Amino acid sequence: MRQPDLSLIRRFSGPITAAPADDALQGMQTAVKIRPALAVDPLDSYDVVRAVHHAAAQRTPVAVSSTGHGATSLNGGLLIRTHRMSHVTVDPHTRTADIGAGATWGQVIEAAAQHGLAPLSGTATTVGAVGYTLGGGISPLSRAFGYAADHVVDLDIVTPDGRLRYVSADDDPDLFWAARGAGAHLGVVTRMKCRLFHIDRVLAGAISITVNDWAAVTDRFVTWSADLPERTGALLSLKSFPDLPNLPDAIRGKRTATIYVTSIGAESDAADQVRALGGIVRESPRLTPMPPADLAAVFNEPAGPHAFQGDAIAVSDVNAEPLAAGLGSLVNSARPQFLFIHRLGGAMSREPDQGTAIGNRAAEYLVRIVTSPAPTDDPTAVAIEQDDVLRSMSIEPTGRVPNFLFGDNLGVARVTDCYTAEDLRRLGRITAPVDPDSLLMPARGRLDGAATAARTEDSQYREPRGHQDPGTCEVNSHG
Ligand SMILES: Cc1cc2nc3c(=O)[nH]c(=O)nc-3n(C[C@H](O)[C@H](O)[C@H](O)COP(=O)(O)OP(=O)(O)OC[C@H]3O[C@@H](n4cnc5c(N)ncnc54)[C@H](O)[C@@H]3O)c2cc1C
Repeated sequence: MRQPDLSLIRRFSGPITAAPADDALQGMQTAVKIRPALAVDPLDSYDVVRAVHHAAAQRTPVAVSSTGHGATSLNGGLLIRTHRMSHVTVDPHTRTADIGAGATWGQVIEAAAQHGLAPLSGTATTVGAVGYTLGGGISPLSRAFGYAADHVVDLDIVTPDGRLRYVSADDDPDLFWAARGAGAHLGVVTRMKCRLFHIDRVLAGAISITVNDWAAVTDRFVTWSADLPERTGALLSLKSFPDLPNLPDAIRGKRTATIYVTSIGAESDAADQVRALGGIVRESPRLTPMPPADLAAVFNEPAGPHAFQGDAIAVSDVNAEPLAAGLGSLVNSARPQFLFIHRLGGAMSREPDQGTAIGNRAAEYLVRIVTSPAPTDDPTAVAIEQDDVLRSMSIEPTGRVPNFLFGDNLGVARVTDCYTAEDLRRLGRITAPVDPDSLLMPARGRLDGAATAARTEDSQYREPRGHQDPGTCEVNSHG
C-alpha cells in the first residue's frame, strides 16, 4: 500500500492519524473493521477540501464517517471523520436548522426544541443528521411530513474533484436532486440546512402484543395499518432470541411483538385507531402525549456500540399468508433476528418540488431484517440467511432502502437496488464529472457503470452463495 504523504496536508487544522489502531475508529457498528491508511478529523469545509486534494494527488480512495451507524468495512484509503464539525444553528423565523456534517439528531432536536420546533429525525438520537438525510431519512413522523431529504433547503459539499460547492434547487439543481436520497455518492457534505416543524405534541406509544402467533399479528397489523390516516405512523417489530446459553434469561428463547404508534392527530382519533387493533393487544393500550423531542425514547434503540447487520426492502403490498413462511425461518434461526414492518405511504409517496433521488416512493411498507451476529459469523452467511427469510416471504420488492443496509451485508444486498434504472443513469451522469477518478467510497458501495448496467438487466436479488454454520450470538435489538 502506498504510504500517505503527510506534507501534502500540513495546513490541515484538525487531527491526522496515520494507520490508526484497530479500535481507534470504532463507531456505533462493531461488526465491521475500519482500517484506513490515514484518518483525518477536519474542523471545517476547508480542511475537507485539503484532505480531498491530498487524496486526489495520491489517487487514494476517500471515505466519510460521522457516527458509524451506517459503516461498512474499510481497508486502506483516506477516512474523513466529520465528528468535529457538529455545529447546529436554528433560525426560528425561517424554521430551519443549519447542521454541520458531524451533528447527531440529538443535538439538532435539542437546539430546535428551544424554539418549539422539531426536525424529521428518526428513532435514535445518536444517528448523524446528515448521513441519515442523504439516504432519504424515514422519521416516525414521515407519513405526515415526508422524508427528511424532502426538506433539505441547501448544502455545502466537497466533491472528489476537490471543489467546495454550494448546492440548492437554483444553484446546482442536478446535485441538489441527487443529494436528496443518494447524497453519499456525491462527495463530502460539510453542512446542510433543513426545514423544521412546529409540532406542539405527539401522541406515541409502544403497544405490547399478547398473541404468540406472529402470522396472525402481522396479518392484523397490515390490515389495520392500511387504513391509517397520514397523521399516524406505525411500525411492527418482531424479535426472536434463540435458546442460547450466552443470552440473558430475560430474553433467552423468547419472542416479542410490539407495535409502535405515533400520531399528530387528535387524542380521541388516535385512541380510536389504537382500539381498532382489537384483541391482539394487552388491555387499554394508551398513547402518551409528549413533545416531539421525547419521541425517540419510545423506540428505545440501543445506546452504545454493538454488532448488527441488516437488509431492507420496500414493498407495495404485504400479504400475511406467505409472510408466515418467512417468519418461521426467522424463529428457527440460531441467531437473534429482528423483523420490522414500517408503514410507509402518506406524504412519503409525494415527490417534492425539484424531485429527489429517493427510490420506492410508491412503496406502502418497508420490511427490514436485522441480525445480531456473533464475532465469528461470516457476514455473507448472515446475509444469505437474511435473504432466505425475505425470499421465503414471497413479497414483491419495489427496491431496497439505503439507510437500512447495515454492516457488511452487501454480498447479497446491492445499493443499486435502492434506485430506479432511470435514476441510476441520471446519477451516473451527475457523479462522473465530479468524481472523474472514482475516488469516493460510500459505505454501501459505489453506483458505478457496471453496477448500474447490472441493475437494469438483472433481477432484484443475487442468488445466495452457499451456507455456513451459524456461530454463537451476542444480544442486540433495534427498535
Ligand atoms: C439504531 C439505529 C436507528 C436508526 N434509525 C433510523 C431511522 O429512524 N430512520 C432512518 O432513515 N434511518 C435510521 N437509521 C439508519 C441511519 O440513518 C443510517 O445508518 C445512516 O447512514 C447513518 O448515518 P451516520 O452519519 O450516523 O452514520 P455513518 O456510519 O457515519 O455514515 C454512513 C455513511 O453515510 C455517508 N455519509 C455520512 N456522512 C456523510 C457526509 N457528511 N457526506 C457524505 N456522505 C456521508 C458515508 O457513506 C458514510 O459511510 C438507524 C440506524 C441505527 C443503527
